[in-house]
Amino acid sequence: MVTMVTMPMAEPADEQLLLNLLNTTPVVDGHEQDDLADFALARQWLAANGQKATKQEWQGLLDVRTVLQAIVRGEQSPTALAPFLVEVGYWPRATADGLDWDLRAPGGRVAAAKAVIAWDALRVSSPGRLRACANPECQLFLIDRSKPNSAKWCSMAVCGNRMKARRHYHRAGETA
Ligand SMILES: [Zn+2]
Repeated sequence: MVTMVTMPMAEPADEQLLLNLLNTTPVVDGHEQDDLADFALARQWLAANGQKATKQEWQGLLDVRTVLQAIVRGEQSPTALAPFLVEVGYWPRATADGLDWDLRAPGGRVAAAKAVIAWDALRVSSPGRLRACANPECQLFLIDRSKPNSAKWCSMAVCGNRMKARRHYHRAGETA
């Protein structure tokens, strides 16, 4: 007999946390920039993303960021996420309506755990929609929410137009 259990889903805010985290190493003027390079920057970032602004949380995010970026780019297996799931779990809590599920993670690993769980929730609910920008000079990621799932760029305004202009340049002289 199979017991069906309703598993908690990642919250939209965690999805945004994941995407924001993946996008903390943008290329600016041809150089990789790290928006979490030091604790002063990281503290602001953590607060802006609704996370506890501690050095441990910062370190946890730096560790998991490298792994998640590599996984989304298809360069690493999700088995690499194992260290970020140690002692992570959901616990039921009785409420006036029924049960709520609370995420529990060791101190300093809460934001990292949220990002990992959000990654997996997207993998299941929206397969293939979290991906790297198609501009090889861009290191940003996108979650494609369009119906045809055909978005290529982190931003049409930036990478989309840049790549289109380049294609147009390369095609100049060719007959359409
Ligand atoms: Zn881009």
